[in-house]
Amino acid sequence: MTKTAFGFPLKHSHIKTKLAASLGGGAETTTTITSMKFSVKTWSNGKARTGLLQLGNCPSPIETPSLLLSTRKGLPLFISPDLLPSLPLPDSYLLQFSPLHFLEGLSTKTIAAIGGLHQMLGLHDYVYAAVLRDPIQCLPECDASNKFGASFETPCGRVLVKPADYMDMIASMKPNIWASLADEVPAWVSSKRNRTSVDRTVKWLDECIALGSAKAAGGALFGAIVGGSNIEERKRCAQEAAIRNVSGYWIGGFGLGESMDERPALLNAVTVSFKLTRVLFKNTDYFECFIFKAKGEWLFYCVRLEIHAACWMNRVVTVVCIVGSEVMIEVRDAGCQDSLQEEKPRLVCGLELPEEVLQGVAAGIDLFDSSKDATPIVQNCVCYTCQNHTKAYINHLLNVHEMLAQTLLEIHNTHHFLGFFRSIREAIKEGRFDLFRQMFVQHRREQLAAVAVCA
Ligand SMILES: [Zn+2]
Repeated sequence: MTKTAFGFPLKHSHIKTKLAASLGGGAETTTTITSMKFSVKTWSNGKARTGLLQLGNCPSPIETPSLLLSTRKGLPLFISPDLLPSLPLPDSYLLQFSPLHFLEGLSTKTIAAIGGLHQMLGLHDYVYAAVLRDPIQCLPECDASNKFGASFETPCGRVLVKPADYMDMIASMKPNIWASLADEVPAWVSSKRNRTSVDRTVKWLDECIALGSAKAAGGALFGAIVGGSNIEERKRCAQEAAIRNVSGYWIGGFGLGESMDERPALLNAVTVSFKLTRVLFKNTDYFECFIFKAKGEWLFYCVRLEIHAACWMNRVVTVVCIVGSEVMIEVRDAGCQDSLQEEKPRLVCGLELPEEVLQGVAAGIDLFDSSKDATPIVQNCVCYTCQNHTKAYINHLLNVHEMLAQTLLEIHNTHHFLGFFRSIREAIKEGRFDLFRQMFVQHRREQLAAVAVCA
């Protein structure tokens, strides 16, 4: 029995320690690099799921699926720190930024001296997720990327970011969550270029892991998954990320020219579907159960029951809970051997419209980067804007190009979109996600048609 590399999804640190001890050393292979905790709570209609994300500094756990508010230099656009608490909490605790926003201005050294982004902005309760790409200002420029690093078009011009540069930024800014460096390509590149993009992304993931521990970067590393519009490449990249020591997955390469119709297959290729069986072992000393990964296979071994590795080949086995002397095990028939571990959060970038978000939720995505929603001011809205100002007043502000208009609209839109995510979570919990999605898409189609008629 090979006693190596167990990047297994055990939830109990207790059993983890015992296991490591029993296997003789190697206890540090699954060192927790972060205080992030994530657990899946409910499933609905296949892969749509709700979960709970907990981060050390955040006062309350955050339910997923959830939205990361996009920011410029750590603050949501048009919303000043004093207005931030007017957004619904805890939903609005998640903020996303690109380290490239800081190219102009403060150096990484200065930010490091201040103690990171939370310290610098005084937002100690908020959760920062660092992703280099941002949908408006920092776009990947695949023609200029090379084997040394990824290129981005930024307000400061074109920048080539090497893994070492990137890890300097992460180590100084200290985000709670960060995605590894990725070579993102648009949908129309050649299959050769797409393959190169996966090779580089995997190589950079290894470099980010190594540099991250060398620089004591901290934070939860989300392994980048790319692969453009090619299902096999998507799978390959997901498998590579799944066997590495990451806390979650960042799924990139979307919103770059692929069609909405081909997206579900691409998302599902990454979040492979599972057939789930739960097995309860009674009167089993969990100390005698081993779950580990050897030669690319998930293996389960229980001394007392004499269930050995061969019986469980090609299955993903997860310890669900341990109560007294009982062990609950989940066995999943996986389409591929190295599928993404269920108990790690998945963050996707580039799905912006509500319909696209629903595609992601249906494929089992937990976190989304900011979205564009042109929903008009609605009736009965309880946001700060609608409670305090009339539509006419906001229209007036827009007409005279007053910046307050943007602030008020931003508050309303954010409120509205966080509410959308809340409805998604409720639908999943009640087991009616598919129906919710159908109704929503139909309703929006009618709404858009009505707007088009009026225009
Ligand atoms: Zn409102």
